[in-house]
Amino acid sequence: MRNSLQGKVVAITGASSGIGEATARLLARSGAFVVLGARRMDRLSAIVADIQREGGQAISFELDVQQQGQVQAFVDGAVKEFGHLDVLVNNAGVMLVAPLSDLKTDQWDRMIDVNIKGVLYGIAAALPVMQAQGSGHVINVSSVAGHKVGLGFAVYCGTKFAVRAISEGFRQEAGPNIRSTIISPGAVATELPTHISAGPSKDAVDAMYATAEISADAVARAIQYAISQTPDVDVNEIVIRPTAQE
Ligand code: NDP
Repeated sequence: MRNSLQGKVVAITGASSGIGEATARLLARSGAFVVLGARRMDRLSAIVADIQREGGQAISFELDVQQQGQVQAFVDGAVKEFGHLDVLVNNAGVMLVAPLSDLKTDQWDRMIDVNIKGVLYGIAAALPVMQAQGSGHVINVSSVAGHKVGLGFAVYCGTKFAVRAISEGFRQEAGPNIRSTIISPGAVATELPTHISAGPSKDAVDAMYATAEISADAVARAIQYAISQTPDVDVNEIVIRPTAQE
């Protein structure tokens, strides 16, 4: 029987590490044609080489999701290479946690630009393609932090609440054959917390992740599950966290 992922074209932002990398590797092993985007081209090239060595199909593009033109070029590049686009995974994200009173407005700007505007730019590039095809699927990575606000997480949570709102709006507006999935992970063992500035917020996050975290592979399997449903089934949200997480 034909694998439902075989030949599906899946573009993934933030594919140079963590959840994006794990998703690209898993989907490629399942027969999908994967298109990887991120800023660290050395990492992307190594992942693409691994996938190709295993017999998979993958290409990569340098991508900063803060730049709308680069997001457009990423989606256009996927379509040019493979002829169409089945799935866009808006995964790129940053978590720069600090109390509001620290007034780290540069970090607020970056989280808004990457986590919210990056997702919107992905939609802007992919929606016309998917509407012209009459089918498609946009998967946006939100978070458990998109469901509840933790102390010191105000701006990050704000961006992840926004991702869930945008995803639901997309579901309502995109068209009857275009699917919308929110992936909301809890603590996942990736590089994400390493970018937090040293201090009490970083210590608190490190302590939380030390208590319980799941692998990026577990989240990749959730993404694979959503994609591999038959076209009439739209998995709208998956919340996935360590069993031991509060
Ligand atoms: P990682 O830090 O391992 O991965 C983040 C990815 O985003 C990297 O590939 C990075 O690539 C990319 N990225 C960051 N900034 C940009 C940018 N401006 N343009 C393009 N790509 C960018 O963390 P995760 O895998 O954990 O994060 C993936 C998603 O999962 C994020 O949206 C995050 O918020 C979400 N998430 C993670 C959780 C966790 O506990 N780990 C929990 C809940 C949600 P590069 O630096 O090469 O550009």
